[in-house]
Order: sequence, then C-alpha cells, then structure tokens
Amino acid sequence: MFVKKIGIDLGTSNSLVFVPNKGIVLNEPSVVAVSLAENRILAVGQEAKEMIGRTPDTIRVYRPLKDGVIADYRVTEAMLRFFIERTAGKMKIFKPELMIAVPAGITSTERRAVIEAGMAAGGKQVFVAKEPILAAIGAGVPINSCSGNMIVDIGAGTAEVAVISLGGIVNSASVRVAGDKINQAISDYVRKKYNLAIGDQTAEEIKINVGTVLPLAKDETMEIRGRDLVLGLPKNIRISSNEICGPMTDVLEDIIQAIKQVLRETPPELSADIMSKGMTISGGGALIRNIDSLLAQTIGVPVTIAEEPLFCVVKGAGVVIENLDIYKKSVMSKK
Ligand code: ADP
Ligand code: MG
Repeated sequence: MFVKKIGIDLGTSNSLVFVPNKGIVLNEPSVVAVSLAENRILAVGQEAKEMIGRTPDTIRVYRPLKDGVIADYRVTEAMLRFFIERTAGKMKIFKPELMIAVPAGITSTERRAVIEAGMAAGGKQVFVAKEPILAAIGAGVPINSCSGNMIVDIGAGTAEVAVISLGGIVNSASVRVAGDKINQAISDYVRKKYNLAIGDQTAEEIKINVGTVLPLAKDETMEIRGRDLVLGLPKNIRISSNEICGPMTDVLEDIIQAIKQVLRETPPELSADIMSKGMTISGGGALIRNIDSLLAQTIGVPVTIAEEPLFCVVKGAGVVIENLDIYKKSVMSKK
C-alpha cells in the first residue's frame, strides 16, 4: 500500500507524522546533526538529540525550528525529507499529499517557506493549516459549530491561544513563552539557590517528574546531578516540587495574560459560550501538574485537558487531510 496522505506536526521540540488508517507512525525530536566539513546530515531525530552537548567542533546539532517557525530553511527541508522518506519510502512517482501544521501567527513569507520545504522534500501537493485549528480538531472540539471554542496549545517554544467558531479563528494570540522557558526558569533557580549548573535535559526531567504550578499538600523530591559552580566538580542535590512551584508559575504569567487578552477581545456571544463550556488545553505543557487548576483559578473559566495532548495537532492534521472537502475553509494549499 502506498502512503498517499500524510499529516505532519513540525513542532519546536517534537515532530510527529500521522497517516490515515495507520495512526501516528513517527514521533521524533525536531533535531538534526550536521557534519560541518562535508556539510552532510549525520543524524535526525532521537539519534541527533542524544548528540547534544557531546559533539566535537566538526559536528553541529540544530533545532531548526525556533519558536515554531523555520529558523534554518535548509536543515528543516532535510529533516522533512527524512520524515517523509521514513513514512512513505523514497517515492519518485507516487508522491504523497502533505498537510503541515503551522503556527497561527506565522507571516505569509514563513508560510511559503513551509510549503516550499514540503514540496522540495517530496510532497506532491502541500496543504498548511493553522495549529490551533488542528489542535482543536485533534482534541475533538466541534470547530464547525457556531458556538465559541477556546483552545490553548502550550508547546516547547510557543503558547498559542485561539477562539474558534464556524471552522475559523475569530481571535488569537501567540506568546514565545512555553516549555523551554520553564526549563530555563528551573535551571536559573538551581543555579542561584544551590550554585549548581544543570543541563537543559536535567531541568526538563525536574519539570516532568516533580514539577507543579500549585503547591502540593505532600511535597515530592528527586535527586539531580549538576556541576558545583564554586568547586567546578559534579555534585548531587535533592530538589522538591514546592520549591520550584514559584519559578514555574512565574513563567506562566505571560500565557495567562495572553488568554485574558484574547477573552477581552472576543465578541460577547462567543465569550459567553467559553465561560460556560470552558477552554481546552493541548501540547506538552498541558501535562504540567496542576496547570488546569491554576488556569481555571486565575482566569475563572473551566479548563479541560485534551486527551493525549502531545498528539492533538498531528491527529488533527491527519483528520483534515483525510477529509479535505469538509475542512476546505481552514486549509491553504499549493500544487
Ligand atoms: P512543540 O509542539 O513545540 O514541539 P510539544 O507540544 O511537543 O511542543 O510539547 C513539548 C513540551 O512539553 C516540552 O517543553 C516538554 O518539556 C513539555 N512536556 C512534555 N511532557 C511533559 C510533562 N509530562 N510535564 C510537563 N511538561 C511536559
Ligand atoms: Mg506543537
């Protein structure tokens, strides 16, 4: 069986591929390792991610998507080609149709770059649709209904807030504050408090394992290893949920402000719908412990965490490419 249609979520931290009737067939970090001397791609995805911080001068490891848009065109194209070939094989004749998710705040130049990269990477035809729409579809939100729906996708590089009604975005905002900034806040805290330098990977483990944005009644701890900034030697410490709660919550302030702003600018009929039905959150950030309660408390709107929040955008991309006629309105294309 040839793969004719492919949905792609080109995320800042993870890229996923969905094939109708098969489901998610690929889920890899958006990372590429390049050999500088020969200008050659050495590794893509998990293999490349494992090289971060361990490469000699002759190898460079990239995250080619910065804040969700293409920061390095050539490397992004190579990465897309790798994902497509892994999914559909090296097809010269039967090229697949692609649906690629793009951030809602993307400029037309950036959108063209994504389409060009998809064509150059082996797409027969490339469609793009805005991430919040795809996230909503993937989360099972009835976007074509005439009531207002709010979706908040918190990824690694950006958080996107959108109000959707009748299949289109009525109002949206995007802030470049999300999972990466939380990791940064955790490293900064550990550096200041314990004079300990930790890697980004360690900060992310702390966030995922013991992180919380509301204090826990029963505090939890984990042991971490870093480099003592005074002695320059490795050192282990224990870090607890409740001590990093403050730094993590501070980062979310910008996202909370963006949500409030979008609600203020939403027509009253639609915001009334949102007040009663609540908002849906997706993306890896939706997995932060207690984020639903924090958002509900500070914004005063009920919050639902989407099922499998990391997969919403790619599942939405799969649904749309399978049913283009239904979703025509939310899609742009180029042959
Ligand atoms: P993107 O679309 O930008 O690639 P994703 O939606 O894939 O982002 O989410 C990745 C982000 O979610 C990363 O910052 C990652 O650390 C974070 N993340 C993943 N799982 C969890 C978890 N269980 N708890 C908190 N954060 C998480
Ligand atoms: Mg994403």
